[in-house]
Amino acid sequence: MSILTEKAPSFVREIAPYRAGKPAAELVRELGLNPETVVKLASNENPLGLGEKAKAAIAQAALDLGRYPDANGFSLKRKLSERHGVAAEQITLGNGSNDILELAAKAFLKAGSNSVFSQYAFAVYPLATQGCGAQAKVVPALNYGHDLDAFLATIDENTRVVFVANPNNPTGTFLTEKQLLAFLEKAPSDVLIVLDEAYNEFLETDQQYDATQWITRFPNLLVSRSFSKAYGLAGLRVGYSVSSSEVADLMNRVRQPFNVNSIALAAAEAALDDVAFLKKTFELNREGRALLTQGLQALGLEVLPSAGNFVLVKVGTADNAGALVFDALQRRGVIVRPVGNYGLPQWLRISVGLPAENARLLAEMPHALAVLDQA
Ligand SMILES: *Cc1c(COP(=O)(O)O)cnc(C)c1O
Repeated sequence: MSILTEKAPSFVREIAPYRAGKPAAELVRELGLNPETVVKLASNENPLGLGEKAKAAIAQAALDLGRYPDANGFSLKRKLSERHGVAAEQITLGNGSNDILELAAKAFLKAGSNSVFSQYAFAVYPLATQGCGAQAKVVPALNYGHDLDAFLATIDENTRVVFVANPNNPTGTFLTEKQLLAFLEKAPSDVLIVLDEAYNEFLETDQQYDATQWITRFPNLLVSRSFSKAYGLAGLRVGYSVSSSEVADLMNRVRQPFNVNSIALAAAEAALDDVAFLKKTFELNREGRALLTQGLQALGLEVLPSAGNFVLVKVGTADNAGALVFDALQRRGVIVRPVGNYGLPQWLRISVGLPAENARLLAEMPHALAVLDQA
């Protein structure tokens, strides 16, 4: 640490940076793999890639990049407001929904206040909290999912934000509409409840609910959605929230003026209309998730029931089982996500891929598991 960097606030110096998966191209080079056959099931991306409507919108928007984007995202907000039946003033656009989570934290958290979220919850919640110099209060998980009663017991007079991921990443656990509503009834109305629904589009028909309709009843609710997962726009970075217009107004004050770029705005708008692509994505995921779950269970492994586009699987009982199997899979050209940084060192998170990619994972897995016998 230099005399310069030691003067940075301690809450910044203590942040453990987000650890993303290595780009596939990098691994191909490092491990001498065949780029044609490498399978990446590590970041919960849409295995179909971009939809045709988004592609066309991107090509069009690329012609006009000499101009700044629309700072208020007027057109995309109008479309989203129609879709959800809310006022455009209730919508906040983000550079990914990651940006939304940070804007919510920035608007409400400071040193001395705290946020509440679950053990095994999405890694961005502690980052966003620490970035504001606030404290993170982590609630022990219940069967790997969110224990909402324990959330209520943990919230104190300094709690300003609660993060609830539904479904949660990396566990895939799911809270029902009934559980969420019971929680909102009891949660203090002066605490912002951030309901992170990055995987909402993958919910089964009997799981579906529309939390954006609850905001009139619970003005302290903020619902966050992403274009990165089902809509296939992860590389463009675009997400949004629906909240009360008062909360949106606060978030608007702390965001950078052009936080969503022109291509992302255009692509997101087009993607919203691509009903066929979304349906195809949903069905592909539904089948792939069932196939992966059954295939992994057939190998004698524990798989958590997942409501998302990924599964969490326990690959061994040794404390480095996840890391060993991850490494062995990678050498065989299949990239998944180790989750030791989530406190789950015996587990791996595997994104649902195309049918051939899922089959490849299942074919390589027994070979990769064999490293545990040698360890
Ligand atoms: C992927 C993910 C997000 C953020 O995705 P963006 O690409 O920033 O929109 C948010 N929450 C959870 C739980 C996620 O898994």
